[in-house]
Amino acid sequence: MSLLKPLVLTKVVEHDLCIGCGACISVCPSKALDITWNNYGFLVAQANENRCDNDGACLNVCPFNTEPNESYQNEDGLAIQYLSGVPLYHPKIGHYNSLYAGYSHKHRESSSSGGIGTYIYEKLFDLGIIKHVVTVGDSNKPDAHYQYKVVSSKEELLTISKTRYHPVTLATVLTEIKELDGDVAISGVGCFIKAIRLAQNNDPSLKEKIKFLVGIICGGVKSTFFTEYLADKAGATSNQFSNPEYRVKDPESTASDYGFSCIDNPTKIRKIIKMRQVGDMWGSGLFKANACDFCDDVTTELADISLGDAWLSPYDQDGRGHNVAVSRSNIADQILQQGLISGELELEELSQESFLASQQGSFNHRHDGINTRIEMVKRIGMATPPTRVMPTPLPFYLQLVQKARRCTRAKSLQIWALHKNSIVFDKNMKLEKLKLKVITKLSHVIRRAKSSIGIKS
Ligand SMILES: Cc1cc2nc3c(=O)[nH]c(=O)nc-3n(C[C@H](O)[C@H](O)[C@H](O)COP(=O)(O)OP(=O)(O)OC[C@H]3O[C@@H](n4cnc5c(N)ncnc54)[C@H](O)[C@@H]3O)c2cc1C
Repeated sequence: MSLLKPLVLTKVVEHDLCIGCGACISVCPSKALDITWNNYGFLVAQANENRCDNDGACLNVCPFNTEPNESYQNEDGLAIQYLSGVPLYHPKIGHYNSLYAGYSHKHRESSSSGGIGTYIYEKLFDLGIIKHVVTVGDSNKPDAHYQYKVVSSKEELLTISKTRYHPVTLATVLTEIKELDGDVAISGVGCFIKAIRLAQNNDPSLKEKIKFLVGIICGGVKSTFFTEYLADKAGATSNQFSNPEYRVKDPESTASDYGFSCIDNPTKIRKIIKMRQVGDMWGSGLFKANACDFCDDVTTELADISLGDAWLSPYDQDGRGHNVAVSRSNIADQILQQGLISGELELEELSQESFLASQQGSFNHRHDGINTRIEMVKRIGMATPPTRVMPTPLPFYLQLVQKARRCTRAKSLQIWALHKNSIVFDKNMKLEKLKLKVITKLSHVIRRAKSSIGIKS
């Protein structure tokens, strides 16, 4: 056992802020860290038997570092380094060239939203910019459905499109890519992209090797309990399922009317359930990582391109899916413009207001509520990373919403860890979910009443 505890454990993991990205593992000079599943279905860093020299390299690449030193860069500092010369800036969007809504004709059917993620990768291969994509596909390990993997052909890429709301880690991949012949592109949610930028600062060879980052706009990382719960709700035999698919589109319906499916292993039958049948899994914070409540990067600000769903009329009326895209580098812009000219992409420019509206729920929760959440956890002695959002007082009714969401999130993890059964879970969560619903409804009523007499919330 290590004599000294790696700093990332005392400053991050012990405050329930580890997101499992594994950047710390790839930089640890004494190889004193591993990644493991915790009791709540998340991947987290842990110490192994090697001796830690306590030099703090692990903390310097951690996206949720609670005690950054003067050389540690936050998203704003990293953007100056990695997105220099990008002409536009908005405090909620970050640095960018242009904003779009659209899709790829070839890819959207087999993709989560508009398929621009897979399209970009294909073009990066075609242009000879990269030889490999590091992205999330099927796992070869028994304890995970999905994992980061290296994909070195366009054909394989097409088979692994789609979003996986499943914990994954870059722990071994960041080391692996240094050995690859040729440059790489990587996809990741905001905190993973930040970890990659920090790792690039730590190791110039990664700066050379990683030529492009596809940012996934993220509303929160889910525990593996989320997948288990959905599989159980869909009717799969308890814990005997495979191939979970989180975004089964309904082309005849709206974009948000998607389903979850998985294969029931004993019968080999594909089980499917519409997400509207399971209720709100995102706004309620169910099965979400604690760290996500302390992340203010809503749009994955450090990627070359950030991609999300166009939760915006008229795009959300089309069940085949549309992306919103924030291009932040010249390569990203060139690929999108070429796609528009060739007719491979359908793209419409979005105004800042329209883009912001497409992620409004996430901004409301992540930015407006963050200071309330920080105060809540500080009161119980837990640390949080520094954030960039100015402290602004939240009216009492919105503070209550934040408190109710924190309780729902925590309880969902405790209840699933104990029972692993969706009927028991739903019964045990009923009151908590009802409380959240009533408090949220009340806050809407107060907000509407205030705005009708000209008072801003
Ligand atoms: C945890 C999570 C939360 C999200 N929350 C939001 C949200 O709040 N608002 C919003 O607008 N969009 C959100 N998204 C993004 C959205 O679901 C789509 O992933 C995005 O719009 C890209 O769609 P696409 O059709 O272009 O991607 P595709 O063409 O389907 O390609 C997706 C690519 O991403 C890779 N990938 C899949 N899962 C992961 C993962 N976990 N980490 C890294 N790479 C991955 C795939 O291997 C594939 O290469 C979220 C995604 C994730 C993973």
